[in-house]
Amino acid sequence: MSQSTTFSLGFLGRMPLWQQILIGLGLGVLTGVLFKSNALLLAPIGTLFLNAIKMLIVPLVFVSLVAGITAMSDSAKLGRISVKTIGIYLLTTAFAVSIGLLFGALFSPGEGMNMVASGVQEAKQAPSLVQILVGLVPTNPVAAFAEGNILQIIVFAIALGVSMNLIGEKAAPTVKLFNSLAEVFYKLTDLVMRCAPIGVFALIAGVVASHGIEVLLPLAEVIGVIYLASIAHMLLVYGGLLALLARLSPLRFFKGVAPALAVAFSTSSSAGTLPVSIECARKNLGVSQGVAGFVLPVGATINMDGTAIYQGVLALFIAQAFGVELNGAQYLMIILTATLASVGTAGVPGAGLIMLGLVLTSVGLPLEGVALIAGIDRILDMARTTVNVAGDLMTTTLVGRSENELDQTIYNSDNPQ
Ligand code: ASP
Repeated sequence: MSQSTTFSLGFLGRMPLWQQILIGLGLGVLTGVLFKSNALLLAPIGTLFLNAIKMLIVPLVFVSLVAGITAMSDSAKLGRISVKTIGIYLLTTAFAVSIGLLFGALFSPGEGMNMVASGVQEAKQAPSLVQILVGLVPTNPVAAFAEGNILQIIVFAIALGVSMNLIGEKAAPTVKLFNSLAEVFYKLTDLVMRCAPIGVFALIAGVVASHGIEVLLPLAEVIGVIYLASIAHMLLVYGGLLALLARLSPLRFFKGVAPALAVAFSTSSSAGTLPVSIECARKNLGVSQGVAGFVLPVGATINMDGTAIYQGVLALFIAQAFGVELNGAQYLMIILTATLASVGTAGVPGAGLIMLGLVLTSVGLPLEGVALIAGIDRILDMARTTVNVAGDLMTTTLVGRSENELDQTIYNSDNPQ
């Protein structure tokens, strides 16, 4: 094992990083429960870690995407990978909404609950499809970088990478530069990740402290159903696809992606987790830089299975709570809008709540539902972001395997980070 697979973080000794992170997560929950609002004193440490990860997102996505595209100079291959990626993303998302609806119907968390909305909260207007499409191309790439507009950065990086491929030899020095930059940013990610156990600990302690049991209890059932549906989706759909389609061990997968899932859980941002996801895909799953650098940034932007599950469960929950009967057409409408809404959801905390408004309006459900959920949304966001990131990594694994861009020796190695 390379020296970076074991870290020395004081008392944690030479334990693999993913175990250290899980311990940080557990201790964080404990600290939040025991010390309540005093645990908020740890917030600056969490913010520091979050800032360090966020610092990496824009440059890392840009250089690794350009390096990834140039590694696939064969344009037929690039096209094939794009089709597979988008296809798997949409398919798993449709599965996710359906699982959400199924669990919502099975457990009926809203039935018989005496819920009174504390006030009407207008859902913010979600952007239309045309707006999203037109906004894809940056008029000024520098502004896109400054604003951290990931979709625009992706489009610019793809255009740049494809142009480099088209001119071949003449682009050789630039290709070399981007490859070298990508290595530099991977190293930087590696360094930031060494602080993950402490960062995750501080972040989670803050979340638990600010969402005391009192806030969670009245809606405990719906929280439970969303967590259950999320776990079922990850185990059945992701585990199933990995085992059946790729003939890879789901256990190894979850072990390899554990650091990314822990960071997703504690930050509630799949865009924020991107540097860690890329690192896990390359180092623990053995996916090539080309595939990981392309599939993951796209996924962090458009693939949100956890968000889709959440919308499925909540649409039913709110219908049950307000005594609205849904018909078959409305169920179909929910599947369609929730899939589209999850594509349009940004990978930042709380984005799914805004999109929930969209799904509710499409089938005429009361928007007060959004206000009802707002208080517990962060707890739900943690679950959905974890699934979102797991889905991106699962797709990366499937695409990598089918393109022969996955090193099974690394995937099956006993010591992931
Ligand atoms: N927070 C989620 C994510 O970053 C998006 C959402 O709010 O649903 O993946």
